[in-house]
Amino acid sequence: MEQKKYAVFTMDVERFSDTECIYSSGIQVNVDLMDGLDEYLSILDKYHIKSTLFTVGELAPRIADRLRSYIHRGHQIALHSYSHVAPITVPLEQFREKIRHAKQRMQELLHVDVVGFRAPCFSMDKDHLNVLKELGFLYDSSFLDFQPARHTVKWDLQNFKQLRENIFHLDNFYEFGLSREKVLGLPFPISGGGYVRLSNWGFVKTLIQHYIHHNDYYVFYLHPFELTKQKIPFLKELKSYDKYYIKQGIQTYSRRIEQIILMLQKSGYEFVTFEQLVQIMNKEACATV
Ligand SMILES: [Zn+2]
Repeated sequence: MEQKKYAVFTMDVERFSDTECIYSSGIQVNVDLMDGLDEYLSILDKYHIKSTLFTVGELAPRIADRLRSYIHRGHQIALHSYSHVAPITVPLEQFREKIRHAKQRMQELLHVDVVGFRAPCFSMDKDHLNVLKELGFLYDSSFLDFQPARHTVKWDLQNFKQLRENIFHLDNFYEFGLSREKVLGLPFPISGGGYVRLSNWGFVKTLIQHYIHHNDYYVFYLHPFELTKQKIPFLKELKSYDKYYIKQGIQTYSRRIEQIILMLQKSGYEFVTFEQLVQIMNKEACATV
């Protein structure tokens, strides 16, 4: 029997200044461009899609009312670390304490269980992942497995059982990896962010179409600034590529997202949050025992 197909739409909810190239340059910017979050959810509303919002812990108190209203509308909140620092650069003990605190604080602030995690810059490894399991998280979604990405390391999920392409399971914990499609034998990320926004649309659309036809799990992610209607500040100190990264394709990204949604709909995908997917995978596991 053919398996059901699932798509998960997510956002890494962070300030514009958290964008890696801006943060690492030390340039001060005083706009958050958080309107892109509202824009994203209004696109998803059109298609009745609920999203998983990976939110930076230290940002949550400043946008708590907004997050509460999104929870009320059926979206789910997960953690995008305590601050926007690559986890693999943080010593394990420090990471454990900071994440324990951020999880608890976000739960108290929003009155929901926070059971999911995505690492800033997809920067995760086995040891930091074990900390998440110890702290009671049910899933992580940081597995990108794309070597050119900054702050990522080659990271194996050896002990995990692979349930589907990019879904891995171990001891009641799931790793939901990002989707990739091979180009000339090498995997290329097709899950959103700059990869989908900056690439030629004909090229990336063909890759996504091919992937979703042959698989049964797809995940999409982006950041608030990528859908902002505000003017993106001109930061003359940034390197040329980084200037291009923060501006290129912002005007047309919402159209691309809608086209991806339509492709998924046409291919019979069901749209779920990661917490729902955990429940679905648990049920599938029970059914096969
Ligand atoms: Zn991030």
